Amino acid sequence: MSALGGPQSQVADIARQARELLGQVRESRWPGFEPPARQFAAAPATAAVRKPVATLREEPNPWSTLEQIALVVSTCTKCPLHTTRTQTVPGEGAMKARLMFVGEAPGADEDRLGRPFVGAAGQLLDKMIVAMGLARDQVFIGNILKCRPPGNRDPLEQEVAACLPYLRAQIALIRPEVICSLGRHASHALLERTDSLSKFRGRFFEYRGTPLLPTFHPSYLLRTPADKGAAWKDLQLIMHRLKSSQPEQRSTEEYDR
Ligand code: URA
Ligand code: SF4
Repeated sequence: MSALGGPQSQVADIARQARELLGQVRESRWPGFEPPARQFAAAPATAAVRKPVATLREEPNPWSTLEQIALVVSTCTKCPLHTTRTQTVPGEGAMKARLMFVGEAPGADEDRLGRPFVGAAGQLLDKMIVAMGLARDQVFIGNILKCRPPGNRDPLEQEVAACLPYLRAQIALIRPEVICSLGRHASHALLERTDSLSKFRGRFFEYRGTPLLPTFHPSYLLRTPADKGAAWKDLQLIMHRLKSSQPEQRSTEEYDR
């Protein structure tokens, strides 16, 4: 038997220290040390990670009617616009609308009346709807923001983020066949883009599985009537899309299948 502190006890000490150090390494308590599992699990920095896109059916929706959404919006204080609004403008139209128009935000007339697109831009939108062979009460008209930004300034990113869930819920309830986004702000918010509207308007995209066509905002068309022809072409694309999905236009073969 060796005395306490003899060579055998030193060997035992060294062995204990080695076990402790090994334990520290395994538990990654040393700064800068990454256990292999974590090193390899990290995604390569260059990998293009696509976010999974929820379709309308999968999207959780806390509300079951448009009226419920309008009621919640009427008392909403999620962003500072609630302090300057006169009335909220939740949007209006048919619950079973096949076509949904999405604008930017209420203006002075809309803020006063609590209804979307009732000012000068609204009158042009009404004409556009009628020219498409539809009536205003057959479609749904909504906005990205439900409260007016003071002086009609552009929506702020935080306001859009706060308000967008209401529009998303409206779209998920109505499940239109086509969405038409009016202008840059609505198109950017729904398509999560930031580039110039002129780069992508007039073509179909998808919003969570629903065809979406971005076109000019009626206010812009009032200022730039020369672009009305291009806007009309956009609307014709939508009409064509709606016509081609009309039940009565489908061949009987489709029903027999
Ligand atoms: N402009 C919009 O974008 N929405 C309205 O409701 C009115 C004008
Ligand atoms: Fe709420 Fe939208 Fe109005 Fe902001 S703009 S207070 S989020 S309803």
